[in-house]
Amino acid sequence: MPPILLDGKTTAEAIRAEIRQEVVDYQAETGCAPTLAAVLVGDDPASQVYVRNKERACADVGMHSRLSRLSDTTSTEQLLNLLSELNADRSVNGILVQLPLPGQVDSQAVLDAVTPLKDVDAFAPENVGLLAQGRPRFLPCTPHGVAQILARYEIETIGKHVVIVGRSDIVGKPMASMLMQRDYGLGPRMANASVTVCHSQSYGLAELTRQADILIVAIGRPAFITADMVKPRAVVVDVGINRVGDRLVGDVDFAALQPVASAITPVPGGIGPLTIAMLLRNTLTAAQLQRQN
Ligand code: NAP
Repeated sequence: MPPILLDGKTTAEAIRAEIRQEVVDYQAETGCAPTLAAVLVGDDPASQVYVRNKERACADVGMHSRLSRLSDTTSTEQLLNLLSELNADRSVNGILVQLPLPGQVDSQAVLDAVTPLKDVDAFAPENVGLLAQGRPRFLPCTPHGVAQILARYEIETIGKHVVIVGRSDIVGKPMASMLMQRDYGLGPRMANASVTVCHSQSYGLAELTRQADILIVAIGRPAFITADMVKPRAVVVDVGINRVGDRLVGDVDFAALQPVASAITPVPGGIGPLTIAMLLRNTLTAAQLQRQN
């Protein structure tokens, strides 16, 4: 039987429709729309596309977005000054610094300067800590996208062995942090997993990935996960986005896994659209939280 295709595009559209309605309600109550401020440094073509997509997504759900575009010679100090203005600006609810930043910039200092209540990427140590303690303020966008697609296809994680390949601060680590909780907001049946995290120093990677009931891959290596690395009927979530020639491919060999997996995300059209939808969710959450503070 071919695997169920976990369709990120359709799922993201359903989530955006929910957010659109909540934005209408928010606007009716407050007289203003949630606002996301994006900071783009330099003219990396991929970053420009990502930021443009995020601006369009904001407009699509009735939110405002604001772009600060800075030259690729911008210093850390200039960025810190800008962030201090955005932090203080009550009309800005969420702040997003598009990565990567140019080499002369201290990226960690810049990310740390985003006030935790506007930290819609959930990178701030305070927000990472709250998530680790099982009381998240914001769920990080990409892991939240993974959780949402599993939830909406009724693929529960409770009691399952989830193997995550990749331990980045953006994907692997927060994904593990969420799934090992008793409940991080989507209910206990979408949490409570037994989680294994693998990385480039893991011995016997294929033996580890073959144990997965649910395999989540975020490493940035095209078609790295082959059929022999996957347990029959496993659910496979491919977070990877790699440009190969003029095509985008994931970290998983999608074609080879067809006879093996029970459900699988495509690339493109998998986790990518969900990541943007969850950024919108966090911007709305930030606006709601700031009203209470
Ligand atoms: P990253 O920061 O470069 O981290 C990559 C991780 O993969 C590291 O933990 C690394 O291990 C591990 N790794 C690399 N090669 C490996 C190997 N041969 N075997 C096992 N582990 C290996 O990457 P990232 O930011 O998490 O992104 C990963 C991929 O996801 C990229 O393709 C990126 O474009 C994509 N992505 C997609 C979305 C989306 O919206 N769909 C969002 C974010 C990222 P070490 O720690 O030992 O180096």
